[in-house]
Amino acid sequence: MSNKPKRRFRRNEDGRLRLVAGTMNGVEYYVGAYTGECSGCACDCGDGYPCSHGAGGCDECGYTGKRVRHFPVAFDPSETERMHAMERSAP
Ligand SMILES: [Zn+2]
Ligand SMILES: [Zn+2]
Repeated sequence: MSNKPKRRFRRNEDGRLRLVAGTMNGVEYYVGAYTGECSGCACDCGDGYPCSHGAGGCDECGYTGKRVRHFPVAFDPSETERMHAMERSAP
């Protein structure tokens, strides 16, 4: 039985080949990554966001103060809205 799901690649809006990670609401997406401040140890002094104190580090982020977030990105930006439509209406 060779019923393995085949890996498919598609170009995103930047012309880069990305692995198709799945579909959401019928829209194909790839996984994008973004490095941001760790929410577990980010300063919450209310001095504007982000304030100059930054994130101090905690065991969630391995004391780096930074966390990589992964999120689905639609190949066609015009479909982004449709991809997230259900998320928003979810309770
Ligand atoms: Zn602060
Ligand atoms: Zn942290």
